[in-house]
Amino acid sequence: MPHQTPNQRPSKLCPICGRLFIWRKKWERCWDQVVYCSDRCRSQSGRRPNTPPNESPSPPKSLRSPLY
Ligand SMILES: [Zn+2]
Repeated sequence: MPHQTPNQRPSKLCPICGRLFIWRKKWERCWDQVVYCSDRCRSQSGRRPNTPPNESPSPPKSLRSPLY
């Protein structure tokens, strides 16, 4: 069963700014993958190979659906 300890949230140390950041609600599903405290620090960590900064993933190609 889930343990409820609101005062004991996990924390990590950001390698970019060196600050300790605490678990947030938005990270509840990906906390293990969280490394940086913010998107800014993550962007400063270097380019990510799969996601160029100026290009977002292509949207689904359903621009002209007859029903809409
Ligand atoms: Zn940081």
